[in-house]
Amino acid sequence: MSWFTRKKQNIEKNTKKDLPNDLWRKCSCGEILYNPELEASFSICHHCNFHFPITSEQYQDIILDKKSESLFSDISSIDMLGFKANKSYEEILETVPNNKEAVDCFLGEIEKRKVVLCIMNVTIAEPKALIGFAGQRVIKQTTSQELPDHFQTSEFLKEKGFIDFVVDRKNLKNSISKVLDVLA
Ligand SMILES: [Zn+2]
Repeated sequence: MSWFTRKKQNIEKNTKKDLPNDLWRKCSCGEILYNPELEASFSICHHCNFHFPITSEQYQDIILDKKSESLFSDISSIDMLGFKANKSYEEILETVPNNKEAVDCFLGEIEKRKVVLCIMNVTIAEPKALIGFAGQRVIKQTTSQELPDHFQTSEFLKEKGFIDFVVDRKNLKNSISKVLDVLA
């Protein structure tokens, strides 16, 4: 038998103060980061240099001089291969409403040079980005081979020639501009 009995019901039991979810983010290094500061630093953790995933719109803001024209935004994927899974292809596409294409294209300028920017993370990658069609576990099961710990990281794929260069997000625009110096 308890010493005290609650007479009043429906009292809020959770006294924990809720912090607005959009203000704070926890990094995999354990640090709690203030979102406005994180966004101002290209969504890179200033403790461990982890690059948080960002949208192609945010890449556009980082790379291009100013807001640009989005190309082919009225085109969306169709199920050409008769995709078989627990969910239909259309259902899966509905879960990623802002990213219906594998490539997002923008017409804009990099340091006053006219460019068409196509964002798909293939030849330029960020530090420790994971790149692959299938996950490491699936590949390990399929091939029955041990895989290195850093398999599928941008650094490993650069070493194997699949990635041209690995660049910190804050240096992305400058690096692309240098490539344009050579090519354009
Ligand atoms: Zn971190």
